[in-house]
Amino acid sequence: MDALTPIGFFGALTDVSARLADLREGSVGVGVISLYTQSDAALYRLPLEHLRRFERTMEREIRARLRPQDALFAIDGKEWLIVLPNLSSAAVLTLAMLRFEQAFNEAPQEIDGIVLPMRVVCGAALSPDHGKDAYHLLQSARIAGLVAGRADIGSQIYNPSMEESSPSVASLERDLRAAFSGGPELELHLQPKVHVPSGECRSAEALLRWRNSAGQWVPPPVVVSLIDRLGMRHRFNRWLFQHAAQILHRLRMEGLEVDVSINLSATDLYDTEVPDLISQALSTWNVSAERLCIEITETSMIDDSAGESVSAVLGRLRQLGLSLSIDDFGTGFSGMSRLKRLAVQEVKIDRSFVIDLLNSARDREIAASIIDLSHRLGVEVTAEGVEDERTAGLLADMGCDHIQGFLYSKALAPAAFVDWVRARAGIGVVAENIGDG
Ligand code: C2E
Ligand code: CA
Ligand code: CA
Repeated sequence: MDALTPIGFFGALTDVSARLADLREGSVGVGVISLYTQSDAALYRLPLEHLRRFERTMEREIRARLRPQDALFAIDGKEWLIVLPNLSSAAVLTLAMLRFEQAFNEAPQEIDGIVLPMRVVCGAALSPDHGKDAYHLLQSARIAGLVAGRADIGSQIYNPSMEESSPSVASLERDLRAAFSGGPELELHLQPKVHVPSGECRSAEALLRWRNSAGQWVPPPVVVSLIDRLGMRHRFNRWLFQHAAQILHRLRMEGLEVDVSINLSATDLYDTEVPDLISQALSTWNVSAERLCIEITETSMIDDSAGESVSAVLGRLRQLGLSLSIDDFGTGFSGMSRLKRLAVQEVKIDRSFVIDLLNSARDREIAASIIDLSHRLGVEVTAEGVEDERTAGLLADMGCDHIQGFLYSKALAPAAFVDWVRARAGIGVVAENIGDG
């Protein structure tokens, strides 16, 4: 049984774009369905074995409902993206969503006595009406999903009025604006990265967490889409940079030497104001730029059509003294030679290569060669999505520098993160004492 097609967000979009270019006469176009499970918080607390087994079952069930030309992608393990080319009518899309919903409804609600309070939400969009390119199509599908979720309907096809008059989107917008002006609902949580040789936590990734006014947790990719759709990217970035700098300040006050990385989207690399905003935030909180790392996905860095503004922004970020990291490495199409030119400090091996490391010789080979080549260029390597000891051990043997994943911890609120780092440092000391006695 294959794992879910291990392809990142941009990989999936590249594929959607290819299929858009492939449109045939007499079809309404390409349908894109974003499907996500709404009880991810509950799912996360499931033992990993169960979660994996559930994901595999669902993959099999969804695949069984696809036509040969359809494609299934996993985005972050919680959101599935389904691409349906050459639809004969919009009705086919509605039908497809019903079938996927049914697949989830009929799925095992209980695995080894653990109940899965599962709810699935489908949002769909049709090309060419609902988006000029793959990115906008997916965003439209996600907006439709949001509306469906808020209205307690399983599935919805996008229509433009959803953004204008829908109380759901309008209220989400209100929630978001309030959150930007200091509301407590929007937070950055920190996921520890463990430095392999020392076992210490020397860095962490800041991940967005948002609970809207209805108390629902909204997955970060959806929040980011929504921010773009509402034209609030600039406000969000200001919020993000200020909060990251504030967290760095707080960590220093707590006496912890921990670097923090934040995620930038591809579109941020076109925004020549981004480096200045970051620089302002750092000086407001009096923290050194060396403490902040910027994670950028592989594909967004190498987009050849991106041209000069991207290089200029990257150059400025480097000049400020920030470190750069390539996220989701291995999912794009760049050769390692580009690593050198990009002058990054870190590469993150995508979770899709980590999941099956123990079973897949191919994935081990990919991971080993990423580590080897990165080290030759003086670039550090973090493996993300590590969930078990054996995989961590294997990566350590390969020379991987940092390990991030649920094995150690999920992303924690800053206060809990501080406790976690202290407790971890304590663990080392206690172990030594026991050894001495
Ligand atoms: P990412 O940058 O690849 O972040 C890693 C994601 O993997 C996080 O999901 C994290 O919770 C999850 N993860 C970490 N370890 C494990 C593990 O062992 N197992 C599994 N199954 N998952 C693990 P999260 O927080 O849901 O974020 C999803 C994506 O949303 C991120 O992927 C990133 O692309 C985006 N995102 C999050 N925060 C921000 C932000 O502030 N700005 C932007 N532009 N994007 C963000
Ligand atoms: Ca990241
Ligand atoms: Ca990643």
